[in-house]
Amino acid sequence: MDLERELGSKLLNGIKINEPMSLHTSWKVGGPADYFLIPASQGELVDIVRYASDHDLPLFVFGNGTNLLVRDGGIRGLVVHMGAPFHYIHWEKNGLVAGAGTPMPQLARAAAHKGLAGLEYAGGIPGSLGGALVMNAGAYGSYTGQLVKDVTLVGPDGNIFRLGREKLDFGYRCSNLAGAGIITGARLKLEEGDPAELESRVEFFLAERRRRHPQLPSAGSVFRNLPDRPAGRLIEAAGGKGMRVGDACVSEQHANFIVNLGRATASDILDLIGAVQRLVKERFGIELQPEVKVVGEEK
Ligand SMILES: Cc1cc2nc3c(=O)[nH]c(=O)nc-3n(C[C@H](O)[C@H](O)[C@H](O)COP(=O)(O)OP(=O)(O)OC[C@H]3O[C@@H](n4cnc5c(N)ncnc54)[C@H](O)[C@@H]3O)c2cc1C
Repeated sequence: MDLERELGSKLLNGIKINEPMSLHTSWKVGGPADYFLIPASQGELVDIVRYASDHDLPLFVFGNGTNLLVRDGGIRGLVVHMGAPFHYIHWEKNGLVAGAGTPMPQLARAAAHKGLAGLEYAGGIPGSLGGALVMNAGAYGSYTGQLVKDVTLVGPDGNIFRLGREKLDFGYRCSNLAGAGIITGARLKLEEGDPAELESRVEFFLAERRRRHPQLPSAGSVFRNLPDRPAGRLIEAAGGKGMRVGDACVSEQHANFIVNLGRATASDILDLIGAVQRLVKERFGIELQPEVKVVGEEK
């Protein structure tokens, strides 16, 4: 196979063929990625992007897979995981520069320990910095976009560029970084704070989550909240808790979570999402919109 010879042989981590995406998503579902790659450096990432562009191959990038529903037929083309090689933190006077693969909980804890305030909300958000920027992940009234000074990306033809704050637009669980390129890192602005106080805020938010969120595989909140009401309350009021398709189940603990009881497929989860939408529409006339990103092909 040309791709393995021409590209794979140059990459430190090689290429995996038909890699099950269920191994890389927090829901633990998803069919195979045709070609699965973990670039070991920015240079390798650029080589991968250029190869895909030269050969007209589709390329999908993801971080920790905690907001992703990959359909059971999997993803065609190249699938790039921004993992450990893009996991770094460099401290600056009033903030930090971090790699896109850095897990948000580690970023939150490290910043608190350093006496830098602003990231405490992220201690329990299991995504990577790259995913948190695309999704504008947030909690407890704070969100990632408000901290950003600039973002570095690799464009579709392999060019590296930086977008400053003035070029960035963050909304509720969305940003104009979606589709803008592959994020390799970002500079965040933080405030000075007391390490002990910041660390206890991180712990407080984590304890809140442990109390309120189910511990089974999920992708966090499935539906976007309405401006005046959390989606979970609507689902609960409509009687949706405990609804089930196969091993996909609306959590009894938090109605905006769909949990995988063991052997759920993406198709079970999608069917359950549809059933919950119909239930809430019939009961309240409201169309719930999914927050999770659905990608890949049906089986
Ligand atoms: C238990 C649990 C709790 C959660 N709680 C919260 C919460 O409180 N608040 C909240 O906002 N979210 C929450 N989430 C959802 C999720 O963690 C966030 O949306 C997170 O930001 C996703 O990051 P990720 O790295 O997992 O992204 P992924 O799921 O890997 O990808 C999400 C999207 O970002 C894109 N993407 C990822 N990395 C890059 C990159 N480097 N360059 C370009 N595009 C990229 C992908 O293509 C995809 O479109 C929760 C999820 C779970 C499982």
